[in-house]
Amino acid sequence: MAPRSRQRRQKKPPSVTPVVGAPPTVETPMPLTLTTPDPSIDALGFFSLDNNVPGLSSLILQKLNMKSYEEYKMVVDGGTPASGFGFRCPQEMFQRLEDTFRFCAHCRTLPSGLSNSKVLRHCKRCKNVYYCGPECQRSDWPAHRRVCRELCHVAVDRLMEWLLVTGDFVLPSGPWPCPADVVQDWDVWFSMRGLQLEATLDAVLSSHAMSILWASVGRPRPDPDVLRGSLKRLLTDTLSRPLTLGLGLRALGISTGKTEGSTVHVVGASHVETFLTHSEDYNELGYMFPGHCGFHVIMVGVDVATSFLQSTATSTPVPGTIHISGHRGLYHDFWEEQVETGKTAHPDMVVAFHPGFHASPTLMEAWLPTLLLLRDYKIPTLLTIYSHQELAASLQILVNLDTHIIAYGANPFASLKPEQVYSNPNKQPVYCSAYYIIFHGSSCQLDEKQLEEKIDGGD
Ligand SMILES: [Zn+2]
Ligand SMILES: [Zn+2]
Repeated sequence: MAPRSRQRRQKKPPSVTPVVGAPPTVETPMPLTLTTPDPSIDALGFFSLDNNVPGLSSLILQKLNMKSYEEYKMVVDGGTPASGFGFRCPQEMFQRLEDTFRFCAHCRTLPSGLSNSKVLRHCKRCKNVYYCGPECQRSDWPAHRRVCRELCHVAVDRLMEWLLVTGDFVLPSGPWPCPADVVQDWDVWFSMRGLQLEATLDAVLSSHAMSILWASVGRPRPDPDVLRGSLKRLLTDTLSRPLTLGLGLRALGISTGKTEGSTVHVVGASHVETFLTHSEDYNELGYMFPGHCGFHVIMVGVDVATSFLQSTATSTPVPGTIHISGHRGLYHDFWEEQVETGKTAHPDMVVAFHPGFHASPTLMEAWLPTLLLLRDYKIPTLLTIYSHQELAASLQILVNLDTHIIAYGANPFASLKPEQVYSNPNKQPVYCSAYYIIFHGSSCQLDEKQLEEKIDGGD
């Protein structure tokens, strides 16, 4: 049974989900970015936003010109709403998106709840959170000061993400000039890409798209260094997944030189992993293993984006290439229908980004059959986690399940883009795939006490 997208409810902190769509009246499709509280959020999660900020869910629907959660869900699934988005110009689109962030971070009042003379004003430092007045801002400062600087990044990143939607930010690519075992973390990766990366960033900074963006958003264009920083964070956010995957293959010593190629399943895949994901993003994985005999990455999950559902290729991957496909469904069904019947190659590794099974008994129940399947069939498995605290909880569960844990720790290829908790903006931002766990088969060699010591001494 498969891990549903619900596993990310309140775990995957809200970010801007770029959704491409086009108002029906516009001839040339205009890419639209929609702010969504969580790309993989389900109805329960969507309406639970109201627990923190009463009325927030209807504010979002209203600002995005949507009538219902169903319409919203259809859009995050990759569809275009029946009504079209109805934004007349980029200015209006950015204005509407910003409006979905407009509630007092302290007393949670929405614009509709303010008396006539009052307006919500944002924190001048981060331009991210709003306040209904100086009293609320003052009372909130002790909590907000801890995150103000990071939220400043969030406010820029959520606008800059538009360039990924429009295709104006193309990531640097090409074979790595140094061997993969030297490229241990982002610092080395950035210096390896050096001049090429600088040229890419310069091109984006001077692009027409960048000018349009900042002319449309209603706030001054930040300094080039700020924009460069943001582009680099977005880049790590996209490349974190393929590089983490490569990290797992290396840590497990999995050969990428088999003639039939290598197969990786991404389990519990949702919009986060599949929306706006292009095969090219995974080229970086190929560069990690020069001379590889081909990769087939299959995203399996009930919420795999529509755009991603190509036919699951059964042919042998072509050496040096990476084939990505999607399969919408539950992993245990996929296993029975595709893997056991030999329609799809046996996976060399299975990856789950932020399964979140530690978060609730319901999620654990959903993940248990998959975890047991992976353990009992001895499939090398890599999981990623948002925080150190969640790492400890997840390890504990895996130990109780008697999995053999091979490695765990801070991920050197974690996303560097902070993720804000949308309806609770002063909550410490987290980073995607900040930590990882690798397990293989059963009979864990760590007992509980050792594990506690490791965790306490870690980080
Ligand atoms: Zn207030
Ligand atoms: Zn601030």
